[in-house]
Amino acid sequence: MPIQNRIAKFHEEMKSWRHHFHKFPELAYKEINTSKKVVDLLKEFKVDTIKTGIGGTGVVATLENGIGKSIGLRADMDALPIPEENTKPYCSKNSGIMHACGHDGHTTMLLGAAKYLSETRNFKGKVVFIFQPAEEGFAGAKAMIEDGLFKKFPVDEIYGMHNMPNLESGVLAVQEGPRLAAADNFEVEIVGKGSHGAMPSNSIDPIVCGSAIVQNLQHIVSRNSNPKETLVITVASFISGKANNVIPKTAKLNGTIRYYNENIGKMAKKRFYEVINNTSTAFGAKSIITFKKGYPPTVNHKEQSEFAYNVAKKVNGNNSSNIQSPMMGSEDFSYFLKQVPGAFAWIGNGNSASLHNPKYDFDDNILCTGASFLATLAEDYLNT
Ligand SMILES: [Zn+2]
Ligand SMILES: [Zn+2]
Repeated sequence: MPIQNRIAKFHEEMKSWRHHFHKFPELAYKEINTSKKVVDLLKEFKVDTIKTGIGGTGVVATLENGIGKSIGLRADMDALPIPEENTKPYCSKNSGIMHACGHDGHTTMLLGAAKYLSETRNFKGKVVFIFQPAEEGFAGAKAMIEDGLFKKFPVDEIYGMHNMPNLESGVLAVQEGPRLAAADNFEVEIVGKGSHGAMPSNSIDPIVCGSAIVQNLQHIVSRNSNPKETLVITVASFISGKANNVIPKTAKLNGTIRYYNENIGKMAKKRFYEVINNTSTAFGAKSIITFKKGYPPTVNHKEQSEFAYNVAKKVNGNNSSNIQSPMMGSEDFSYFLKQVPGAFAWIGNGNSASLHNPKYDFDDNILCTGASFLATLAEDYLNT
């Protein structure tokens, strides 16, 4: 069975919802009008229940048809603090904010699935539609879980999807295992002793110490981490000093650590502290480390990935793939996958600008494929 015929019939309607979301983008936890529009549409579709305010601006709707299993389907609603550079009629009206990650499309596809499933109800059990806030760095998924999402709406399995520029338009790709990385962030303040630039022996130079730290951190990747595992340590900022004849007192480094395997992450964190503290001591300096644990790795469960791939093939035929390289970006769907078995899929956004680019736009042509995929995941999971 290809794209659900009924969904194809309301493609224009879905486009209008998507353009509305795109025109009025809102930042993390401020998705007030976005969630209101989501609620208005869900009411129009006559879903069974709607609950707002979960994890801030999150919305959860349900459809129930007799006793059976339950499935969660998730979309993210937030936009980014990027001024849009597109010129389409539905461009952002909210200055400095745009849907540069396609969450307008994700929300629309889930709404499309909700409209179809509410009309047809060709399933036994319960579908839980999760519209989450604040995916972009502010852990809306975690906020919803902490606000009792799975206690109020228990689900047996959960599925989500993200668009992917440069993957052929409409291709559905899902594979087991790590899909996106964990992302921890750090700030380090190296405190030394300032002096005249011509009298270095009077100083404890935080720039020389910081340079050694930057070099030594790379040895964690090349010499402490198993070469078969993935680890990235990036110092992205090194700020110190102002004048060409002054050795400053302090230097600041910040950056990010990315990995797929949480044991590698633990090792990297332990060695990170050791390398910085010991290198600082060797130079007679002190370092103040602020380590910020970020999203965990997004790891797809095996059985659920195979199921989702089979659904993708059913909806999309050969435009489906179960081979897709994992990425070093991160995604807070990871929090859901730590609680409930499930899978996170990609849907190709075609030859578009990359995610988080001011010229990015979601591909309207993939709305029906995405909505059909989500709806069929629910039907097939609940009917077997
Ligand atoms: Zn993003
Ligand atoms: Zn995104």
